[in-house]
Amino acid sequence: MSNSCESIEVPYIASNLERCMCSRCPVQSKSSCALEKIENFKNEVSKLKEGKSPTPQNVPGVYCSAGEAFCKDLNVEKNCICNTCSVWKENNLNNACIFEHYCSHGRA
Ligand code: SF4
Ligand code: SF4
Repeated sequence: MSNSCESIEVPYIASNLERCMCSRCPVQSKSSCALEKIENFKNEVSKLKEGKSPTPQNVPGVYCSAGEAFCKDLNVEKNCICNTCSVWKENNLNNACIFEHYCSHGRA
């Protein structure tokens, strides 16, 4: 019997960037690289409302869509909180072959 998981393409769009839970995740909480991006990202929120999405390099999240994190000081031993995210639920990422730790495993 084959294991039926799938590759799921999560849209890289403003509404997903806004809802992403990565900024509250313990995996990033001690990363100076991620914390700086999280702080800068707060200033991007007004642009998000216009439908403009910043480049993935500047976004400390939506790794399910954008792929692996640019920051290399994440603590991936900590639990991923993607399963608390509405983007995760909406895209049925529980069925994806990669269903957590997108920041280190890459996109869904
Ligand atoms: S599923 Fe995870 S990586 Fe994707 S938007 Fe939600 S918290 Fe971010
Ligand atoms: S992908 Fe998961 S583990 Fe990585 S920062 Fe986002 S919520 Fe945390």
